[in-house]
Amino acid sequence: MKFSELTNYFEKLEETASRLSLIEILSELFKKTPENEIDKIVYLTQGRLAPFFVPLEIGMAEKTVAVSIANAYGLTREDVIKSYNNLGDMGLAAFELSQKRNQTMRKRLEENLTVDEVFITLNAIANMKGQGTVEKRQKLLSELLEKMDPVSAKHFVRIPLGNTRLGIGDPTVLDALATAKLGDRSKRKLLEEAYNRTSDLGLIAKTLWRYGLVEVEKLPVMVGHPIRSELCERLPNPEKIIEKMEEVDVQYKYDGFRVQIHKNKDDIRMFSRNLEEMTHMFPELTKAARKQIKADSVILDSEALAYNPESEEFLPFQETTKRRRKHGIEEMAGKLPLKAFVFDILYKNGKQLLDEPLKKRMEILKETLPEDDILIRTKNQTIKDPKTLGVLLDDAISKGLEGLVVKRLESPYVAGGRNFNWVKLKRHSSGELNDTIDCVILGYITGKGKRAAFGAGALLVGIYDDKNDEFVTVSKIGTGLTDEEWREVHKRADKIKLSHKPPRINSLIIPSEWIRPEIVIEVLADEITRSPIHTAGKEGNEPGYALRFPRLVSFRNADKKAEDSTTVKELIEMYQQQGKKD
Ligand code: ATP
Repeated sequence: MKFSELTNYFEKLEETASRLSLIEILSELFKKTPENEIDKIVYLTQGRLAPFFVPLEIGMAEKTVAVSIANAYGLTREDVIKSYNNLGDMGLAAFELSQKRNQTMRKRLEENLTVDEVFITLNAIANMKGQGTVEKRQKLLSELLEKMDPVSAKHFVRIPLGNTRLGIGDPTVLDALATAKLGDRSKRKLLEEAYNRTSDLGLIAKTLWRYGLVEVEKLPVMVGHPIRSELCERLPNPEKIIEKMEEVDVQYKYDGFRVQIHKNKDDIRMFSRNLEEMTHMFPELTKAARKQIKADSVILDSEALAYNPESEEFLPFQETTKRRRKHGIEEMAGKLPLKAFVFDILYKNGKQLLDEPLKKRMEILKETLPEDDILIRTKNQTIKDPKTLGVLLDDAISKGLEGLVVKRLESPYVAGGRNFNWVKLKRHSSGELNDTIDCVILGYITGKGKRAAFGAGALLVGIYDDKNDEFVTVSKIGTGLTDEEWREVHKRADKIKLSHKPPRINSLIIPSEWIRPEIVIEVLADEITRSPIHTAGKEGNEPGYALRFPRLVSFRNADKKAEDSTTVKELIEMYQQQGKKD
């Protein structure tokens, strides 16, 4: 496929404000895509060169890209920066400057680049290391830019800057693949299990194009490919849990980082809950995995946090997240070493264990990790009476933990699932919500008066509707942020401001500015109420759900993507459970 054909589709995708037409345009693009390019095009539509879990990012600085544009169009870097400052986006600057090119330069367009060529060059740029890298990258980039039409240049320069603006979520790609190849988007379900096991949309697309659905369904769990995490449901109290689940395995709920540990002989990799590779962040866990795990190949599920075994103190989440940084990790590992509390095993020596019941997986885990050290098997206990469960909850809280996770003994590991196989139980207080809600900032409403100088006003926040792969509103938050936090919000939000409502946001409220759904915040509210002006859970003329007296607790960017925020289904369940202490 010609690269210009692909970017014409990008242009259409960027212009649409509705998710359904997003799927339609994408599936039309996929239908035209040949087997040898489908994986590349899938990655490029998400601004990537590989699946999310492969840390292959080009990450070029604006100044460097500006030099490439200048060289390609016979301009100076200052010309480019000026246009960029005017337009606020390097893509638009490239578009404008490319349009002004003289005739001789335009002739080169006839060379007509293919998607393959662009992809290969971008890969080469991403993999470049060592001396002179910046200059070499600049040169390759400007050579491609010389051959591109203005629309292609616009979308192309955003890739190395990590600033593609199409905002296409994984479920939307799955919908479009299903529409293109299997007839309609309800068939997405057929692709979903493979996606939950492999987390690789490109691989699924390539397999589907080349070999058909049967082979997609056979795609196995692979060491090195993160499995999408199983998550918890909520129930209000020990009685309700035992009533619903009967006999259960009770474990502590550790409040740290979810870490999936992959071991293939000496090769150890760690993935976060949102499927990012994080191995570099955990040198002490990597070393421990090599030493402690008694198997050639393994996938473990765990929670990493700072813990002092002498005092049996678990350090708060904020301490643990200090680890999320680029530099000084070794020093940090010395000062505040982490432990990983391992609570599941998903694969061992060539055999996937997802379908084994939890009881069996816990036995295999014990054989595989016989001794506690840096990796520690979670404490667990099988119980079937609410009283003991209540005592264990108090015990967990008194140790500074969040609460408990209660699991059905007979349940398989449902990758990517959130159901009543796993239920979290936190400290309960009558009537009030006893859990925070993770919201995404969707836009902001500019304020008036004195505090407007800090950009204070209100934030329009939403949650994730995983059924429709869109973001729906639950609240406007105006209080609870310090001036400093407002400044921080604006600093980040201004970089991801959008010119119009993105297709995946469903809102009746129009903020002063829309922003790309990216910033996740933890919010505490007094209550969930029904509201006609919010779109969360809104069906037809029925009202939606909203938060009453919401306040900001923390920024959750360290470990959550927008799609990991609280879902509509969860919010409705929390609504139904509120006030039901007994
Ligand atoms: P919260 O915001 O309440 O911390 P969450 O949104 O991160 O929860 P949940 O699905 O509600 O996610 O809870 C599951 C999370 O709890 C897991 O992602 C994991 O990080 C953590 N966790 C801690 N201990 C355990 C355990 N023993 N078993 C499973 N998950 C655990």
